[in-house]
Amino acid sequence: MMDAPLQVARILEHGSTVHGTAEVVTWTGAEPRRMSYAEVGRTAARLAHALRDELGVTGDERVATFMWNNAEHLVAYFAVPSMGAVLHTLNIRLFPDQVTYIANHAQDRVVIVDSTLIPLLAKAIGQMTTLRHVVVVGGGDPAALLAATGDRVAVHRWDDLLAGRPDRYDWPAVDERDAAALCYTSGTTGNPKGVAYSHRSIYLHSLQICMPEGFGLGPTDRELAIVPMFHAMSWGLPYAAFLSGAALIMPDRFLQAAPIAEMIATERPTLAGAVPTIWNDLLAHLDSHDVDTSSLKEAIVGGSACPPALMHAFSERHGIEVVHAWGMTEMSPLGSVSRPPAGATGDDAWRYRYTQGRVPAGVQARIVGPLGEPLPADGTSVGELEVRGPWVTATYVGDDIPDEEKFRDGWLRTGDVGTLSPDGFITLTDRAKDVIKSGGEWISSVELENALMAHPDVVEACVVGVPDERWGERPLATVVLREGAEVGVEQLREFLAGTIARWQLPERWAVIDAVPKTSVGKFDKKVVRSRYADGGLAVRELTAP
Ligand code: ADP
Repeated sequence: MMDAPLQVARILEHGSTVHGTAEVVTWTGAEPRRMSYAEVGRTAARLAHALRDELGVTGDERVATFMWNNAEHLVAYFAVPSMGAVLHTLNIRLFPDQVTYIANHAQDRVVIVDSTLIPLLAKAIGQMTTLRHVVVVGGGDPAALLAATGDRVAVHRWDDLLAGRPDRYDWPAVDERDAAALCYTSGTTGNPKGVAYSHRSIYLHSLQICMPEGFGLGPTDRELAIVPMFHAMSWGLPYAAFLSGAALIMPDRFLQAAPIAEMIATERPTLAGAVPTIWNDLLAHLDSHDVDTSSLKEAIVGGSACPPALMHAFSERHGIEVVHAWGMTEMSPLGSVSRPPAGATGDDAWRYRYTQGRVPAGVQARIVGPLGEPLPADGTSVGELEVRGPWVTATYVGDDIPDEEKFRDGWLRTGDVGTLSPDGFITLTDRAKDVIKSGGEWISSVELENALMAHPDVVEACVVGVPDERWGERPLATVVLREGAEVGVEQLREFLAGTIARWQLPERWAVIDAVPKTSVGKFDKKVVRSRYADGGLAVRELTAP
């Protein structure tokens, strides 16, 4: 067979020619902007020429983005890797000093920024020591950037920079194992760490996203990509869209439930992907507004455990099937998708859908015990999940040897705890760091959260382990109640007793306004724990019933 390298440029060429009439739609708050995939291809060529000829980007230099999900970000997704440079998606929601740390660690030379994000970037850019160029998309005033950097950094306007450049580029052949893109973990449980995706890993991962057992993307689909392009490469959706010909609908900065609902009603997506908190907000909106969601067949939910109550609500009240998926930045990010196996119907099918899903051929998984000893894939042995495969990272960027805490014998230690069934379904009970260790027994914080969120008056519930003199740790339940709800925490505990063993029921309760979230919209358990430790929560302690 021919040894054709698997490279991002091939995905771009395919999408922009064979699927040239497919479109990327960018929400603007007014009339949406539309760009065909053919035009994305031409614009990517212009950007690559500008980066090389005007800004001098060569080799594997890093070109960062500080952007929302929109057409220009898509152009950068293709132009930068296709020309042989490395795309680095900066997370706009991190603290400025974290953004600076990451940009310096990655040695970013250029950053492309949406003009609406200039004020945010200005807070971080002053200390970005390797940066030489900023490219501003849109019309905002870049004075704040210049003020923070002086003449060390040149500021360019996207339109001016691209104007008059050739709309074809002779994309170079690359080694498929070379880095194409770089993404840092969002640091939910520690400092951000860099993961470098290769051309090959992106290509193979994109194929899997398109598979029926993946997200099943095809040319008749329209994918609403809510999951940010700065978070785990938007789950690979941009590349998968170009492989499959599926259209992309990009929300830009309009991530609240009302505009998302409007996008669904008017742009008619068939699929959408986002973390549970977004779906939870959208559900409340759909429950109280008349929105045409009839186009939406599936909502992919991942990033945190999806509460079964949320799946049922969407299915039964809105005819939208929630598909649960699991993954990590370290895994490109697709790990598993929960589609019931052949023959499963009714409650049986639902039980499969609650799981984190089934691993594809590209992901090998195993469960190990405390000493790293492999445990049986029998659906009941509980341990840490380890994975390996062609789109799983083998180390973090800049590490000479793989970090022992995260890698073992060629496997990635996910830090997730759960079971693996003989037919490849993963069920996660918790992150290892969030499991509540009470008197030598483990309590799953996720199980308590799911059970609480099944109560009609509970909007969100976040459970963390807190120190306890007698048991070592006990669960603290923090809950957000529906507006006007009058349910008391005693009743909530009684409700939990219907499905949860009594010894696991939390004694400590706090009703809060909102669960603190991480930069990618997950429950921030670090913050909840420290608020508790600082006495910042009004905690009620219930005595044992
Ligand atoms: P961060 O580690 O900073 O949160 P990632 O998005 O890479 O960034 O997080 C990956 C982790 O998110 C997984 O290891 C797992 O703990 C959690 N996760 C992702 N999807 C799911 C899911 N469907 N169910 C439970 N946990 C999930």
